[in-house]
Amino acid sequence: MQKSTESGGDRLHNKIRKLTGKAIGDFNLIEAGDRIAVGVSGGKDSYSLLHILDSLRRRAPVRYELVAVNIDAGFPGYRREVLEEHLRQHDFTYHLETTSAYAIIEEKRRPGSSYCSFCARLRRGALYVVAEQLGCNKIALGHHLDDFIETLLLNQFYVGTLGAMSPKLRADNGRHTVIRPFVYVEEQDIIAYCRSNAFPVICCACPVCGIVDQKRKRMKRLLRELAAENPHLKRSMIAALGNIHPQQLLDRKFHSF
Ligand code: SF4
Repeated sequence: MQKSTESGGDRLHNKIRKLTGKAIGDFNLIEAGDRIAVGVSGGKDSYSLLHILDSLRRRAPVRYELVAVNIDAGFPGYRREVLEEHLRQHDFTYHLETTSAYAIIEEKRRPGSSYCSFCARLRRGALYVVAEQLGCNKIALGHHLDDFIETLLLNQFYVGTLGAMSPKLRADNGRHTVIRPFVYVEEQDIIAYCRSNAFPVICCACPVCGIVDQKRKRMKRLLRELAAENPHLKRSMIAALGNIHPQQLLDRKFHSF
């Protein structure tokens, strides 16, 4: 029993590692001399990203460094010590930053506005500042394939734009590059990988912790239903993002018509 769990874990590790390595190559995500701040929240995606990047780093032909960075928004009950213990046990270089994001959100958020977007903005700003202080030129985030294609659908259905996320982009401050090495990795594999490694997942302890946005939930359900009929659906969608035919679209920026 134990043996098959281990081999399943190895298989997953190798699969995720391979897909991450492919993304790094396809989008030139990591270069020699990079010092990369890996955003870690204590959730499944960021634990997995940190471990996979570290595994790749050990056998990479170029030298680069990783620093795990946690931005603690100050939500009461956030068990940061669990994350810290894990980082220490695995000998990661890390930095934990305490912020007053929670207090700011409580004081400044307009009634009815999104808790998450305000919080995410504050945390992202803090992450940029810390990355700068730590001498990191890149910031790695744990968004995965499902995040990309759900965002694509959300933008089409509710925003009226055709776009998802970028695997590599210049940060808002113009000084860092944000990379998303899990662009080819499906969420279901991350969940299984996280379970097989028993990563000590902690909740962010915010008021909306664990509540998936209703629209995103709907997209997840739609994709699940369609993927049950076509197992290649998600791969096809992510491939579509790299295979655009602007001449078959209506955007006047690309056509004089
Ligand atoms: S889920 Fe919670 S911690 Fe995460 S962005 Fe939303 S409010 Fe912030």
